[in-house]
Amino acid sequence: MHDKLKQAELHVHIGGCLSAQDLAHIAADFYREIDWQPFVENYQRVFCQVADPVAWFDAAVLNRDFSLLEQGYYVTDKDSGDFARFQARFDLLIYIARHLKQKLGHQGPMLDRIFARHRAEGLRYVEYRAMSAIADTYEKFKAFHSEYATACMQASDEQMTVRYIASLPRDNAVLSYRWLRQLLDELPQLRQTIVGIDFCFWEEGYPPKSMTAFFDQLHADNAMNPTHALDVVYHVGESFFDKSLESAIRWCHEAAMLNAKRLGHAIALGMDPLVAISRYDDAHVAESASERLDQITYDLKHARAMQAFGIEVDVEAMIAERNDLAKLSPQNKVHRTYDANRLAEIRLRQRFVLHCLTALGTVIETCPTSNLRIGGVPSPADHPVHRFLESDVNLLIAADDPGIFNVTLADEVNWVVKHSVMNQTQLAKRLGDPIRFALRTLE
Ligand SMILES: [Zn+2]
Repeated sequence: MHDKLKQAELHVHIGGCLSAQDLAHIAADFYREIDWQPFVENYQRVFCQVADPVAWFDAAVLNRDFSLLEQGYYVTDKDSGDFARFQARFDLLIYIARHLKQKLGHQGPMLDRIFARHRAEGLRYVEYRAMSAIADTYEKFKAFHSEYATACMQASDEQMTVRYIASLPRDNAVLSYRWLRQLLDELPQLRQTIVGIDFCFWEEGYPPKSMTAFFDQLHADNAMNPTHALDVVYHVGESFFDKSLESAIRWCHEAAMLNAKRLGHAIALGMDPLVAISRYDDAHVAESASERLDQITYDLKHARAMQAFGIEVDVEAMIAERNDLAKLSPQNKVHRTYDANRLAEIRLRQRFVLHCLTALGTVIETCPTSNLRIGGVPSPADHPVHRFLESDVNLLIAADDPGIFNVTLADEVNWVVKHSVMNQTQLAKRLGDPIRFALRTLE
C-alpha cells in the first residue's frame, strides 16, 4: 500500500521535470550555439556570481562531470524562499527548450527524457501540466498544448498511464478556456488525455473571485456535456505576502467553493500563523482595502458556521469597519498588526477551512521540497503537511518540479515519513490510494 503513494504523480510541471543530466543529454549537440549572455547577466544580478554555462556543459558532456551544471542549475535549500533565484536557474532549461524547439520544430527529445525517467522510477500514473508563455493567439495555444498532450497520449501504455492538464493564464482564463474547448473539438483524439485545467504561476493579484466567470462557464459546459467534463486544479495559498493571513486562508476556501477539485500547496491552511508572520518584518500586516472588504463580507456570511469552531465575529464592529473602508480607494493599504488573540483565531480559521474542504471533498496537493525551497516554509517542522495530516482533509503528496529540485516522488513521500509523526504504514492508511484523486478519465 505504501508503494501506491510513490506510483501516482498528480502535481508536476513538465519544465520542472528535467534534471541536470537530462539537460546535458538534450543540449549536447547545440549548447554552444545558444546566446547565453542574457542568462549570464541575470545570474550575476541574482547570485553575484559569474555563470559560465558553456563550461558547465563542457564538463557534463565531454567529461561526464555534472557537478558544475548541478551547482548552477539545481534549486537547493540555500535558495529558500527566493523566487528570483528559482527563476534564474529555471531559465537554463528555458533557453535549452527554446533552442530545441527552434532547431527541430518540436520538443520531442525533452518529453521523451521525462517520460523515460518517470517510467524508470516506477510511476504508474502521471498527470503532467504545462503553461505557454507565448500563446497569445489560438494557433500558438493549439500548437503548444496539442504537442504536449499528443506526446502524453503516445507515451501512455499499460505500465504508465499519462495524462495532461493545460495550465491556463489567470489573467486570460475565459478566452484561453474557449481555446482549449476549440482544440478538443478539432482534435477529439486528445479528449482522453487532456483531463483538466490548472492555474499556476503568480497568484497575487488574482483572487479566486476574479475567476468566477470562468468557473460559471466551465460548470455550465460540464453540465451540458458530462462526458466531456473537465476538472480544475488550482494553485492557491502558496505565495501570499501581499495580504493578511485571514485573506490567504479565505482564498483557499473560495477556490474550493468555486469547485476546484484539487488545491496546489495551500500552505496558508497549514503553516502556523506565528511562523508565517515571523518570515520578515511586518509580514502580512498590510493588504488592500478591497481585500479587507472581501474578508468582512466573508466573515459576515460565514459567522455562524465559524462560531462552531470558536471564531467570534463581532458583527457590529465589522459593519462599522466596512463603512469606514468604503470611504477609501480600493487599492489603499490597510494595516492590522497581529497579537496573540488574533494568531489564536487564525489557527481556528485554518481548522474551519480544512473542515469545509473535507466536507466539500476538495483535495490538497502538498509538495514538501517545493514548499521549503520556493514556498517560504522556513523548516521541516513548520511544513503545512503536519496540520493537514492531523485533519481529515483529502491529501496527496507530489513533487511539483522534481527535475530542478533533484528529487523523486518517492523522496517526497519518504520526507513526510521522516519528518512527520507517522510511519510508512500509518501514512499510507491516512492518505489512501492517491489514484482516486486523478482527474476525470474516459476509458
Ligand atoms: Zn505547481
